[in-house]
Amino acid sequence: MTEPASAALPAVQEGILRRQSLRESAARTYARSLPIVPVRARGLTIEGADGRRYLDCLSGAGTLALGHNHPVVLEAIKKVIDSGAPLHVLDLATPVKDAFITELFATLPRELADNARVQFCGPAGTDAVEAALKLVRTATGRSGLLAFTGAYHGMTAGALDASGGAQDVRVTRLPYPYDYRCPYGVGGERGAELSARWTESLLDDPKGGVTSPAGMILEPVQGEGGVIPAPDTWLRRMREITAARSIPLIADEVQTGVGRTGTFWAVEHSGVVPDVMVMSKAIGGSLPLAVLVYRADLDVWQPGAHAGTFRGNQLAMAAGAATLAYVREHRLAERAGVLGARMLGQLQGLAADHPCIGDVRGRGLMIGIELVDPDAAERTVSGAPPAAPALAAAVQRECLDRGLIVELGGRHSGVVRLLPPLTLTDDQAAAVLDRLADALSAAERSPQRRQRTGQSH
Ligand code: PMP
Repeated sequence: MTEPASAALPAVQEGILRRQSLRESAARTYARSLPIVPVRARGLTIEGADGRRYLDCLSGAGTLALGHNHPVVLEAIKKVIDSGAPLHVLDLATPVKDAFITELFATLPRELADNARVQFCGPAGTDAVEAALKLVRTATGRSGLLAFTGAYHGMTAGALDASGGAQDVRVTRLPYPYDYRCPYGVGGERGAELSARWTESLLDDPKGGVTSPAGMILEPVQGEGGVIPAPDTWLRRMREITAARSIPLIADEVQTGVGRTGTFWAVEHSGVVPDVMVMSKAIGGSLPLAVLVYRADLDVWQPGAHAGTFRGNQLAMAAGAATLAYVREHRLAERAGVLGARMLGQLQGLAADHPCIGDVRGRGLMIGIELVDPDAAERTVSGAPPAAPALAAAVQRECLDRGLIVELGGRHSGVVRLLPPLTLTDDQAAAVLDRLADALSAAERSPQRRQRTGQSH
């Protein structure tokens, strides 16, 4: 963290933050827990209006595969601008879009790429989820949906219904394998297998109350739900179960895609080939872009079935194509896998000294640290201690004080999340973990924390 360059800078920042709290919506989110005003950014680093610097392990909620303002991304954007190409073209064909599709298809599992279609959506993950639901409902003529506990798919109506916590009679909620809080009390592969069996028996039970499903939607690693990687065997079981019943499988790779988990797409770990893939965040190279890729035989919806004005963002396609190519050429997925495994190991070491770390988990550079109250008298059904959201919030604040931006997630917001860029160096990783360890110790010591109850189950 650097000192402010001039005494005037903190006042500028405070003014902006004050006006934000007066003028912006009560529904604002990150702005509440991260009261900073970014003015410059490069790679892992963000600089605030007060001159302070932060290591950004939020990365635009997992969007910035190459970090902030990567030179190849800036170059790609400048090239389009300098060429005089139109920036807004609805869904018309352009050379920029053509190149993006070619690059995107080159990353797909072969079996899907050979026979895929792509739908450009409104530029948010949630709109691509809406499109996915519409696509499978049209193709199957069925209306139900299979979705999972703890899922997060977005904030528009259909995506929200598919997310855990929502209620829609058409959605059947199935257990996502959550090792640390396994509802069967066994965890591991066995817990995941029991989840799969529950799914199977429910689908085949004529009195199971399942609305005939048009599709199953899942995240290969739940992100907002608390960084919960699904075991590969479980994912293969979901593929078998859906294939046997002609239910399209939709992989929501909005957060897990583009190398984040150690393979280009997270489904590759298991070898599962979904029928539909939802993609956003990193595919736009830091600019808004969302697409749906799916098997050609599902392509029976009508022209205009999923229209929208902003489906032709040329700058995002150029930035996205440059990002996809860079991740592929520099084998950043592999790098994320190796570095992520090392960081997980180090965090597990840290857990040995901090009983409030209930679980450390993740895949690649998608890492979660679940904080708990180890002294609580009660235990949850899984046998794990209750979550400690107040402590997690305190850790986030202490991190910010030490120049580190982290995200929170999980069912009770008790999981500290790291989503650094895939370009993270070894030294940067060490600095991130140092600051995090320090913040954790400070939050544990904080007297407010001891007074605050804030625990939940
Ligand atoms: N799906 C997943 C798995 C996500 O993580 C998110 C966003 N966190 C979304 C969908 C929604 O994306 P957006 O916020 O761009 O609508």
